Formats: sequence, structure tokens, C-alpha cells
Amino acid sequence: MAEKITENLWRLDIPLVGNPLKNLNSYLILGEDRSLLIDTGFRRQSCLEPMEAQLAELGVDRDRMDILLTHLHSDHTGLAPTLLRPGCRMFIGRIDGRLLDYTPSDEYWQRDYVMYMANGFSREEIEHLWDTNPAQIAAPDNWKPEFTLLNDGDILRYGGHRLRVIFTPGHTPGHICLYAEDRRWLFSGDHVLFHISPNICRWMFMPDALGSYLESLDKIRDLDTELLLPAHRAVTGVLSVRVDELKAHHARRLANTLQVTGDEPGMNAYQIAARMSWKIRSRNWEEFPLTQKYFAVGETLAHLDYLVLRGRLRVRKSNGLYLYYPVEKPIL
Ligand SMILES: [Zn+2]
Repeated sequence: MAEKITENLWRLDIPLVGNPLKNLNSYLILGEDRSLLIDTGFRRQSCLEPMEAQLAELGVDRDRMDILLTHLHSDHTGLAPTLLRPGCRMFIGRIDGRLLDYTPSDEYWQRDYVMYMANGFSREEIEHLWDTNPAQIAAPDNWKPEFTLLNDGDILRYGGHRLRVIFTPGHTPGHICLYAEDRRWLFSGDHVLFHISPNICRWMFMPDALGSYLESLDKIRDLDTELLLPAHRAVTGVLSVRVDELKAHHARRLANTLQVTGDEPGMNAYQIAARMSWKIRSRNWEEFPLTQKYFAVGETLAHLDYLVLRGRLRVRKSNGLYLYYPVEKPIL
């Protein structure tokens, strides 16, 4: 059932079956003229049915419902082409909108998986990922987007509210938040979540994903907010405190990465990830589900990149694998 948050603002609960994220919060701003749906769920029946049911329950005029996507991930974009009616607009940030021309392609995934193999994944693991990775297989099908690309600072108007686009790269290269200036609502997408820390992965198109993410956290930290509207799970706490917690979390992960790399110099990212601590219900690295290993190594790579770019680690390629070494501190 859709949850009324306040006048003309609804939360649609979309289950993400079998995914540790558990659910997607899709938000609907009902307007007299047009309505706006923010994020959609995976391209799967188990997302489509609850989405259709909740939209029907609210009686939204589907021919006047535009869709905004906070970022390109398939749990946000997967159903968008199915839900969009002719004559309605689909908004996305300029950078992720451009990337969506490329990221659903086999060529993109081949390049991505070649990179993961150079960082320690076996060929068997990659072959298995090809058929099972939800980021790949639950993305929009037949994506022929007629996007309206948004720029930082653009203003949209729905339900009588002024909604300002804020570029927040990091979780994806072109992630955006939406801020209702009059009501002080922040639709934070996956930029700020409360029960979990957003996954920050290496990206082909973003050389310093973690550095970008930390900068984007500072960009929204002190926004005046009355309602926080994250894309997954519930809200617990205030924005600036949560931003500080997320920054502290990454500082700890960076320290952990340095320590693990220093303990055994010359490991690849897969081996380093296996020795890091992860919050997942699994006894050890071997028992991690493969897609979780994929995200864990992607996250480890973002932390390794951050440290390499800042001169704390160095990387060398040997026999087709990237290996990481601590940088000795200069003797003063
Ligand atoms: Zn995401």
C-alpha cells in the first residue's frame, strides 16, 4: 500500500526480492496539472505488480505522469520505459542520461568484466556473473530513451513545489538529488541512505569515485531539511549527522584498506577485498554470493583508487593483474 507522507506526497514501497537493499522507495508528487514519479524498481514482475497496484490505488492520471530517475542503476531505472506513457517526460541527470546510451550494452559489460578479471576475478566467476548480475540483467530492456537531461541547479515544478536539481556524483557518475526549496524536502536517491551505506564503486567514467562522493556529501550536508526521502529503507536521524557518519565510515574503510595492503604487499583487489571486513550475513569470503563479491571488489577498487591518487599506495601490473603496494613514508 502506498504511504501518504504529507499532502500530495506519497511513498510507493517496491520490494527488491532477494536483494540486500530489500526495497525501493519510489516517491510520487501528485499535482493538479502533472504528477512526478521518482525512481521505478527493477525490470521484473515482482517490482512491476506492486508499482502498478499502488499507482492505481492513488488514481494518478498516467497520461500526465512524468518520471524522474535519480541515477542510472537498474533498481531505479528498470521499469521506467514500461511505465512511461506517450507524451510524458523522463528526466535524468545529464551525465547518467548520456551513460545510459552505453551501460546496458554487451560491449560495456565485456569491458567492465575484463577490468574485474584484471583485478582478480576468475573466468568462471565472470561467466556466471554474465547471466546473474542484476545490475546487468534487470536493467531497462529496449532502452530507447527520450530523456530530458537535467543540469545542476535546474528547477522543476510539480504539485506547486519548486524542485531544484543538485548534482551529487559518486554513487554513479551522474547521480542527482532533488530539493523542494519551499518545503525543505530532500529526495536523496542513493546518495544518503540511513540503514546502509551507499555502495561506492570504481567507474570507467569517474577516475576518483570515492573522492567525488565525499565532495558530494559536503555539497548537501548543511541543506536545511525537514523531510529526508532516501531511495531505500527508512530514515533515522538528521542529514548532517548522517553525512558525518558516512564520511567516518569511509575514513575507516580507507584505514582498513591501507592496513590490509600493508600486511601483505602485492595483492590484487579481489584478495584485498577478501581480507576486509564486510557487513553481510555470510561466514567468510568464499561464501559471499557472487554478485556481492562483485560489489565488494568494486567498492574496494574505489578505495584503492582514492589512496593511489593521493600517493598512499602504488599499483603495478604483473601477469595481467593489478597489484597494490604501500608507499613507504619518506624518512624525515
Ligand atoms: Zn544505486
